[in-house]
Amino acid sequence: MFEKEKLEIIKAGITLDRYGLIALSGGNISLRTPTGEILITPSGMIYEDMVADDVIVMDLQGNVIEGTRKPSSDTEGILYIFQQRSDLNAVIHTHQPYATAISLIEDEFRADLTTLANATAGSVKVTPFSSPGSIDMGIDTVKYLGDSLAVILANHGVMTVGTSLKQALYAAVYMEESAKCYLAARACGETKKLTDKQIQQAVDVFKYYGQGTATIPKELVKRIES
Ligand code: 13P
Ligand code: ZN
Repeated sequence: MFEKEKLEIIKAGITLDRYGLIALSGGNISLRTPTGEILITPSGMIYEDMVADDVIVMDLQGNVIEGTRKPSSDTEGILYIFQQRSDLNAVIHTHQPYATAISLIEDEFRADLTTLANATAGSVKVTPFSSPGSIDMGIDTVKYLGDSLAVILANHGVMTVGTSLKQALYAAVYMEESAKCYLAARACGETKKLTDKQIQQAVDVFKYYGQGTATIPKELVKRIES
């Protein structure tokens, strides 16, 4: 059942590992199927060692439909996100170090880098602290997400979301790239800001990124007066 989607999840986990966003079994990945089931990674397993059968299939209330592994310890919070946000189909949780470090010093990771604006659809809020494994993780994610594709969980890690696994994966990887850049600059002094209008332009331009048929309208890329 859902073999293709399960392998997609494992591949995404290996990608997170390759880019240094997870170490060993930290974090988790979950995906809503087109028929409404939730696929979720097993607790405490390394992605490289995972096979499709290790991924658990459950309904939106957490009743296991298929799988014998213990599901992620964050299942309750993750299900809350899927329950509250029917527009979202993927949730990735990581302990990616650079973005998480921002939660130790800021209440928001402002999208002053176009990469961040592109990938997370704007600035990223830092939630208050909640315990790993608690439903509060999910409640705070929903509360602080707004139109963005990510939040940083204070003193813990990151949640990214998307209509697809690819969108949530890009949000996580590019947020980490942006966080590295931001922290490197911040270590040297004050950082330069983009205006809200410039951030919004970066968000809009990214909608045309990649292999889709639509190209960026000329109107969108003309110089912005700040
Ligand atoms: P799981 O391996 O149980 O998903 O937990 C990892 C984690 O990041 C807890 O917050
Ligand atoms: Zn965690």
